[in-house]
Amino acid sequence: MDIILLGPPGAGKGTQAQRLQAKRGMIQLSTGDMLREAVAKGTPVGLKAKAVMAAGELVSDAIVSALIGERLDTAAAHGAIFDGFPRTHHQAEALEVLLGERGRKLDHVIELVVDEDELVKRIIGRFTCAACGAPYHDQFHMPKVEGTCDACGGHEFKRRPDDNEQTVRTRMAEYRAKTAPILPYYESKGLVRRVDGMQSVEQVATAIDAILDS
Ligand code: AMP
Repeated sequence: MDIILLGPPGAGKGTQAQRLQAKRGMIQLSTGDMLREAVAKGTPVGLKAKAVMAAGELVSDAIVSALIGERLDTAAAHGAIFDGFPRTHHQAEALEVLLGERGRKLDHVIELVVDEDELVKRIIGRFTCAACGAPYHDQFHMPKVEGTCDACGGHEFKRRPDDNEQTVRTRMAEYRAKTAPILPYYESKGLVRRVDGMQSVEQVATAIDAILDS
């Protein structure tokens, strides 16, 4: 099964993708994670993407489509969860070609419907354990013991450099202008399912499970 999780930054796509990966063995394909890895390693793609990402703008369609193409076969057996891709019409078309070449097709496009102002609060407060990646939040989910990761006991935490208010607003604007307009394309194919993304993580997970099991 191949699915897209669609929604603005901070809607919970990554959290739900990780859960589906752990629970169902599907593979999370997050272009944001791939790009952050490329930036950290200083690859040619990373060097091109760094400033664009810091500004909250979109990296070129050619770069992200190539990244997905390189990883798609790793997700052949158990299905892919596209997280943060596609973000434009061109990317949606590129994905269709990449899947078609492999005899695959999308099963669902799950839109996480959220309130933008609430999202800005969610994003600005989030941080993760530097060692194991466990997610936390200044307001909603602090470690039980201050300065110690609940999951692995680590003491170092990190924040994404693009999780500041100004960049988040640009990322939201990019979503509205370029990504939300691809929904009608998938609607015309009867693929879109909507989930209220303002519910708790567990409630959102239950709603996604119901769609995948239907
Ligand atoms: P994310 O982790 O999905 O929020 O992505 C972080 C940043 O990476 C975005 O703000 C963009 O600059 C870039 N990015 C990630 N995925 C894409 C994509 N599919 N198309 C263009 N840029 C992307």
